[in-house]
Amino acid sequence: MVRCPRHAQEQNMSAVSSNSTFNVYQSITQKIIASIEAGLADRTGRAPWHVPGGTNLSPVNATTHAPYRGVNILALWIEAQARGYASAYWASYRQWQSLGAQVRKGERGSMIVFYKRSETRACEDEDHDWTGKLRFVARASSVFNVAQVDGFAEDQPKLPELFQRIEEVEAFVGAVGAVVKHGSSAACYRLAVDAIEMPNREWFLASDTSTAEENYYSVLLHELTHWSGAPHRLNRTFGRRFGDNAYAMEELVAELGAAFLCSALGISNEPREDHAVYIGSWLKVLRSDAKAIFTAASKAQEAFDELAYLATRPDEPALRDCMYQKRADANTVGDH
Ligand SMILES: [Zn+2]
Repeated sequence: MVRCPRHAQEQNMSAVSSNSTFNVYQSITQKIIASIEAGLADRTGRAPWHVPGGTNLSPVNATTHAPYRGVNILALWIEAQARGYASAYWASYRQWQSLGAQVRKGERGSMIVFYKRSETRACEDEDHDWTGKLRFVARASSVFNVAQVDGFAEDQPKLPELFQRIEEVEAFVGAVGAVVKHGSSAACYRLAVDAIEMPNREWFLASDTSTAEENYYSVLLHELTHWSGAPHRLNRTFGRRFGDNAYAMEELVAELGAAFLCSALGISNEPREDHAVYIGSWLKVLRSDAKAIFTAASKAQEAFDELAYLATRPDEPALRDCMYQKRADANTVGDH
């Protein structure tokens, strides 16, 4: 199977490998479960991907300025929230040294995962066997926030004013080209007509930490992520592995996809009351399958890439065909 080159590998390949027997899936999953449980305990319903006020900056590598991807975004958001880091700049110990900076003595690193090509071991996870031939194994690595180092003075770019960010979101959504019908009592993506239904913009309310416009667009970006999974687009399916929880997994992908998009576009991303019902299913899946959040985050990253591509490069049919290659298995994506 030939895939787009940009899908062929996750970034962070430059990170330094550590103990290969350490269960990186289990460790990162446990942190994410704990974060979701904390949101239940304090009755906010916040998961690690919910941060108000457009402050959920996408983590970026300080040496390459490349954004971290997939589950690493979640892992670093959790660490940043837990330790109060305001900056999105991260790098490994050696990468900070290469910039002339030094991690302070006693600072503890944050775990990320990267995928190492393996010639001898079979990949245990079909979700990371992107080409069908190349094999990758997950390895843990450690990165440090800029708040943990001395000797690095570069300021990260400041967010534009909110009205400019809203203009950008509006342009992004418009450029993707999805059919969006307003006037519905609830937001959803209807596969049968390949259209998103949304309540009218003016029906959205502001909260303490989000404007009404931000709430409208974060919901729309969630539905747009569902839209990306249609059979003639990414043909997102979850199959037998997740059984009855496949529907909840699609919701988790949409939650993460919206979070990645909101973060990249600089708008607030709040918990949706009408999706709180899925939290129990997510916890159940995550507790029983240490690779589930990796799969969901990988699919959400794919949706993010797809939508970003459509919004910015709509006139390149070859690349589009590459991404839209249809799979033989039947679609199971329904209305969400
Ligand atoms: Zn949904």
